[in-house]
Amino acid sequence: MTAPEGRTGTPTGPVPWCDRCGEAAAQGDHRTCAAARALEPPRFCPDCRRRMKVQVVPTGWTATCVEHGDRHG
Ligand SMILES: [Zn+2]
Ligand SMILES: [Zn+2]
Repeated sequence: MTAPEGRTGTPTGPVPWCDRCGEAAAQGDHRTCAAARALEPPRFCPDCRRRMKVQVVPTGWTATCVEHGDRHG
């Protein structure tokens, strides 16, 4: 096992969690997730893996993480 990279400050690299299936973004195949995400709002916060409250609005969607706030799409 290798030590994870230290994450300090604002993460600029890939997000740790897949925002559709909630699994580790670095593991597995998320191509189907990415394809679905082009059409659908996310379900999980990519930063903390919490399930987000998703509202579909006329302009797209709003997903709210209790920890990280609103995302819009
Ligand atoms: Zn996924
Ligand atoms: Zn979050």
